[in-house]
Amino acid sequence: MSIEIPKTQKAIVFEGFNGPINLQEIPVPEIQPNEILVNIKYSGICHSDLSTYHAAWGSLTKTKILGHEGAGVVVKLGSNVTGWKIGDYAGVKLIDSTCSQCEHCQQANEVLCPKISLNGISTDGTFQQYVATDAFNAAHLPSSVDLSKVGPILCAGVTAYKGLKTSNAKPNEWVAIVGAGGGLGSLAIQYAKSMGLRVIGIDGGEDKAKSAKNLGADEFIDFTKSEDVAKDVIEITNGGAHACINVSTSEKAIQQSVSYVRPNGTVVLIGLPPNASINVNILMAVLKQVTIKGSYVGTRWDTTEAIDIFARGLINCPITVVGLSEVPNVFKLMEENKIVGRYVVDTSK
Ligand code: NAD
Ligand code: ZN
Repeated sequence: MSIEIPKTQKAIVFEGFNGPINLQEIPVPEIQPNEILVNIKYSGICHSDLSTYHAAWGSLTKTKILGHEGAGVVVKLGSNVTGWKIGDYAGVKLIDSTCSQCEHCQQANEVLCPKISLNGISTDGTFQQYVATDAFNAAHLPSSVDLSKVGPILCAGVTAYKGLKTSNAKPNEWVAIVGAGGGLGSLAIQYAKSMGLRVIGIDGGEDKAKSAKNLGADEFIDFTKSEDVAKDVIEITNGGAHACINVSTSEKAIQQSVSYVRPNGTVVLIGLPPNASINVNILMAVLKQVTIKGSYVGTRWDTTEAIDIFARGLINCPITVVGLSEVPNVFKLMEENKIVGRYVVDTSK
């Protein structure tokens, strides 16, 4: 089977950090022997894309095409590629490739590889119609999935799912999802429910409250209305959340979560407000035996599990579909914390 591949394609290209973002006609990329060419049908828009555009990761950023939640169809195979065929559904996630030789790759913890290459940061990402990506790291997607909805699983979903596993929270325990109305938060609520956890969503505004409740949150705290978020969490949970999953973009909210985690509980750091740090009272952390852990996307296996849970119908991706040229407007809404769920680009528009 072969699929006709055009010479040029549409892409959203940003002209330097914080510069203009334009729809352009650019060449379809060539592939290396280890790569597949994926015709991206849909791509989620992650807050990390916005941070990349704002130069949050500085010199690590080598591309002018963002995006790392791509879902599409394989249209070409590199000469060394095995395990893929033309027409397969493929997911293009944040990790493009790793060295496969270092200590971390050998332990199947490739997110820590010092030679990691990231789609939409180190290499051209998924805000274009065709992406060349490493065949080994691309995610196999079942042919039954809705490509518009599976894109966000490839970063937001797997990151939320891995963060919950990292927290070691057990069924019937309370988990606070801080940033529950956004892309990662909307999925974190549902992965948490699929694991039998009780969820308090924390975010701001009526729309986010409604969304969090609809997606299964047992309780919701509106940080714009609450007089004391920590007191509210401790009251609802009768002593503090067993785990806090920080997927907000607020340094203050992340800081605050340490104060309402239950004794012996775990604070998981996922959200990446630029240049932020947390300041922890050591006496409190020691006497409460608090664990604070960072959690970075997920491995190939975390991704396979997150896709499987989605494909079995346990996760509903609350998406709003827009055309490629809408990316700058979506960034604006994101900056204002106005996005509920995930915006997804339809690359044909
Ligand atoms: P998003 O913009 O969709 O969601 C962020 C949410 O945080 C919004 O709903 C916003 O209203 C909420 N928020 C803001 N201030 C808050 C406060 N004080 N209390 C509670 N909620 C508050 O963003 P997203 O795409 O879900 O990404 C979230 C963060 O996770 C970003 O910083 C992103 O860069 C980061 N991220 C990290 C990883 C990782 O591997 N660690 C992976 C993906 C994304
Ligand atoms: Zn992301």
